[in-house]
Amino acid sequence: MRIGFVGLGNMGAAMAANLLAAGHELTVYNRSPDKVGPLTARGAIAAASPAQACDADVVVTMLADDTATEAVTFGESGIIESLRHGAIHVSCSTISVALSQRLADAHTAAGQVFVAAPVFGRPEAATAAKLFVVAAGPAPAMEALAPLFDAVGQRTFVVSDRARIAHLVKLSGNFLIASVIESLGEAMALVGKAGVDKLEFLDLLTSTLFDAPAYRTYGGLLAREEFEPAGFAARLGLKDVRLLLAAAEDLQVPLPVAGLVRDRYLTLLAGGGGELDWSAMGALAAWEAGGPKPGG
Ligand code: NAP
Repeated sequence: MRIGFVGLGNMGAAMAANLLAAGHELTVYNRSPDKVGPLTARGAIAAASPAQACDADVVVTMLADDTATEAVTFGESGIIESLRHGAIHVSCSTISVALSQRLADAHTAAGQVFVAAPVFGRPEAATAAKLFVVAAGPAPAMEALAPLFDAVGQRTFVVSDRARIAHLVKLSGNFLIASVIESLGEAMALVGKAGVDKLEFLDLLTSTLFDAPAYRTYGGLLAREEFEPAGFAARLGLKDVRLLLAAAEDLQVPLPVAGLVRDRYLTLLAGGGGELDWSAMGALAAWEAGGPKPGG
């Protein structure tokens, strides 16, 4: 498959490398050109603009947020203007439900296809091609994209033919992870202040009632206070809670815990923690109990 790949950040660089390893013909673009080198060294072609990356059957975007995705898609010489008739734009970023719908409408109007395929899994999982892909879009495109999803992930869940549903599902999953981070952080602050070893506490949890990747991964980061370098930056964590709350407001679904989590991220960012891993939000509880500030 001829694939254009736009956005070589923590996630995109690893996903693009796996597409190359699976034998796909890849053209890569990144706003900061220095990130292109490691992929061209493995056989990718460098594009000087998103438009050049659109000379393909499929263009994948793995950009930070709505602003970046809008700029690259709707901007001058953007994806809408440049993608050929019938070609597919796959957005793997975690973007708003509203933008996902807008992208689907705009690509349909331009005679192109839009597929939403946000992913679960941190950069380590992306490197190991172990992501979980949450996909939604027209059925023929899903079939055509199966080899692409297989190259980056361990399993694909097709959740709907309406693209925006994939983003709603992804945002809901991230909300649960953020809730786990906050509640684990509170529990660890409590036992930690009483002198219990946090790693031993975590071992007890994950050996009994909480044997799940979310507890193991985020519990480990919290217990070791390992917040740098960020696998997923706190500023992006706040973005996801904000997008979740916007979708919930549109659907008139109150999410009181999400409101609390949003405020916890605001506290972390206001204290200068935006570039720490989003798990640092859970360390606010220990800080408030007299411990160290997350990130020092
Ligand atoms: P990241 O490391 O911050 O990379 C962001 C990418 O977006 C970079 O390529 C960056 O280009 C580009 N970008 C940002 N603003 C731009 C703009 N205005 N115009 C053009 N390009 C722009 O982020 P990430 O961790 O890879 O995450 C990417 C997406 O995946 C996000 O939506 C995130 O929520 C989602 N996600 C992340 C994880 C994770 O654990 N990290 C897991 C699942 C999903 P530059 O290099 O020039 O800055």
